[in-house]
Amino acid sequence: MSTTQSKLDELTQEIIDKNICAELKAQATQLVMGDGNPDADIVFIGEAPGKNEDIQGKPFVGAAGKFLNEMLGAAAMDRSDVYITNIVKYRPPNNRDPLPQEKAEFWPYLLRQLQIINPKIVITLGRHSMEYFLPDMKIGDIHGRPQHIAVRYDNSDHEMMIMPLFHPAAALYKRSLRQTLIDDFLKVPEVIKRLND
Ligand code: URA
Repeated sequence: MSTTQSKLDELTQEIIDKNICAELKAQATQLVMGDGNPDADIVFIGEAPGKNEDIQGKPFVGAAGKFLNEMLGAAAMDRSDVYITNIVKYRPPNNRDPLPQEKAEFWPYLLRQLQIINPKIVITLGRHSMEYFLPDMKIGDIHGRPQHIAVRYDNSDHEMMIMPLFHPAAALYKRSLRQTLIDDFLKVPEVIKRLND
C-alpha cells in the first residue's frame, strides 16, 4: 500500500472516531472516503454519496458515476488515473442537498485529504464543492476555466489550481448542460499538459 493511502486511511479513521457529522453517520451505511489513485495529479470533488455510493462505499458508482466514467474515457483517462471524492462523506437522507453545517464540518478534512494527495489540480463537480474554494464566484460564469487560488489554513496560504465543472447529475437531468460539461471535460488533458510544461 502506498504511504499516501495509509495516510488517507488514518484520516478516514479519525473522521469516524471523532464522529464528524454524527447525525448523517447514524443514518448512513458507511463513510465514503474516496476512490482511484491516491497519488494522482487530478482530484475530482463531488457533493455527497447517494444510495449506490452508500452501499458500495465508493463515490460516483451510480448513474452520475457512469457518466463521469464515460467523460474520463473521452478525455483518455480512467478512474485509476485520478482520485475521486466528495465534500460530504456520508449519504444525506433521501439524497437531499448537504446542509451548510455538514459541508462546514467536512471542509477541514477535505483540505487535509488534498494536502495528503497533493494533486496538481482539483476539479470541483457542481456548486457544493466549488463554493468553499471560490466563494464569490458563480459556476455559470467560470465553469471549465482553471482558477489559481490560495486557501488559508494552518495559519498559512496554500496555493491551489481549481477547475470548476458542472455536476454530472445536473447534466443528466438538464440536457442543455450535457454538451457544456463534455466540452469542459475535454479541456482537462490540455490543462494538465500546460501545468506540466
Ligand atoms: N453525486 C456526488 O456528488 N457524489 C457521488 O459520490 C455520487 C453522486
